[in-house]
Amino acid sequence: MSPPIHDALHQMKMKHENGDGTMIFKITEEMLQKIQVWDSCKPVDVTGAKFAYTFIPTGLGLIIEVRCDICKRVLDLTEDW
Ligand SMILES: [Zn+2]
Repeated sequence: MSPPIHDALHQMKMKHENGDGTMIFKITEEMLQKIQVWDSCKPVDVTGAKFAYTFIPTGLGLIIEVRCDICKRVLDLTEDW
């Protein structure tokens, strides 16, 4: 007899392992510095979050955009390939 909670956890794990095509994108220290120089808006959110990151994998490389939720500007951080 297995408790229902165990079944639910097991299903979640299976789902996770079957999740192909998941890509993990990282913001490097260099990018963070660029972002800080580019934008100095004060976050209004209590969590301090003000940037939205967009990652678009293309045939030519990875397009990285950062949007400031406060001034609505977009910074292109696309890596050179
Ligand atoms: Zn801003």
